[in-house]
Amino acid sequence: MDFDVVVVGGGPVGCFTATGIAKNGFKVLAVEEHKSIGEPVQCSGLISPRTLTLVNAPGSLVLREFSNARIMSSMGSELLINGDRIHAYAIDRSGFDRYLANQAREAGVEILTGARATLIKRNSHGFSINIALEGREITACCRLLIGADGVNSRTARWLGLPRAGGRVNMYAGELLLNRVNLDEIQVLLGQDFAPGWFGWVIPLTGRLARVGVGSIFNNTSPRYCFKRMIDSYPSIFHGCKEIRYTGGLVPFGPMKKIYASHAMLVGDAASQVKPMSGGGLYTGLRGAQICSGVANKALSRDFLFEKYLAEYQYLWDGEFSAEFESGVRHREIYSTFSDIDLHKLLRSLDRPYWRRLIARHGDIDYPSWLGRRLFTAGPWLQKFARAAIDLYEYGEKMKSRVEA
Ligand SMILES: Cc1cc2nc3c(=O)[nH]c(=O)nc-3n(C[C@H](O)[C@H](O)[C@H](O)COP(=O)(O)OP(=O)(O)OC[C@H]3O[C@@H](n4cnc5c(N)ncnc54)[C@H](O)[C@@H]3O)c2cc1C
Repeated sequence: MDFDVVVVGGGPVGCFTATGIAKNGFKVLAVEEHKSIGEPVQCSGLISPRTLTLVNAPGSLVLREFSNARIMSSMGSELLINGDRIHAYAIDRSGFDRYLANQAREAGVEILTGARATLIKRNSHGFSINIALEGREITACCRLLIGADGVNSRTARWLGLPRAGGRVNMYAGELLLNRVNLDEIQVLLGQDFAPGWFGWVIPLTGRLARVGVGSIFNNTSPRYCFKRMIDSYPSIFHGCKEIRYTGGLVPFGPMKKIYASHAMLVGDAASQVKPMSGGGLYTGLRGAQICSGVANKALSRDFLFEKYLAEYQYLWDGEFSAEFESGVRHREIYSTFSDIDLHKLLRSLDRPYWRRLIARHGDIDYPSWLGRRLFTAGPWLQKFARAAIDLYEYGEKMKSRVEA
């Protein structure tokens, strides 16, 4: 089996990357270890409208639209943001993945499901990939290898590329709630049940909602965090019924290198995930566009050495590194806040001026746009943020002293 490109991982990002390359006439194979594309779902399926536009997906995949968000602290304060436009969609994530896989097939990509890449070896032209398929082992050869195999990317390991700095442990599920406000997403803050991260409630239809929580600390069980969150918000969860659960890890923080000679990483495998929210669909799919653009140029000239593929990292960093660095920094600062700080912060933002500012400049794909506004807007918040930054910088200084 000889291909121009083998993509390891048939998730949304792998399929979209493969489509972008196959459309230029190259022979592309995508291998997906699961039997059915889009299953099992390990995602809450919240995306921005621009994500749907990016991949030209049909509106029928949208289950609900949201303009409003309610941010709640475990100490009782609330901040309701009434958006002036639609900020987010809850989508049928499994259908979204199938749509992207069908687009890939139509572009000429060969997709093998139930096929697991077990080993890659370099050869004189690129790579040979061993694939376990229905109890047999087959080998595919390619000029360019693309690792789109998610957070625990084995491709990254085989290539010896360094991992991203952070991991969020997420636990999520679908719950039947007694009372659901269908118009708003709820963001639940509390360092007790979501250390360094947050919880969320995304209403779907009737009493059904997608609920989840994240934690950036390895020593806390995600299931335990979820239970704590349910107990912390009786007004939302009292008498709720659990339908199904999922969970998983999400990487965050920039990766120093996402390419090698004849190879590139994309999506979660390249940590193309928003550090403030853990959402990886928009950024991963944008990463796929950049990756396939560079791949097409490199394949047509047969320039697949490292120094040519470095353009991918250059373009990716140019578009996202400032946004991601700001996200990581805000995330680290957020981790230093106590529940009382969060309570005070929400109360102080609960004024018409702030609510309007957040509604106007908030963007789930580019939270730094709002961060910048908030930081330059009011003396109280500046003081608050400054204190957090000082605390953070002090901690960093102490850490490097101890390490030295
Ligand atoms: C609980 C949870 C909730 C989330 N909610 C949201 C959300 O609301 N919005 C959002 O934008 N993002 C969300 N995310 C993140 C989002 O799911 C990921 O960023 C997105 O799926 C990344 O797509 P991907 O194609 O890069 O990776 P994946 O979707 O992980 O796909 C990788 C694929 O590679 C396959 N694979 C792995 N190894 C091999 C191998 N050796 N051989 C063959 N196949 C292999 C896997 O089976 C998988 O199908 C959430 C994540 C979690 C865990």
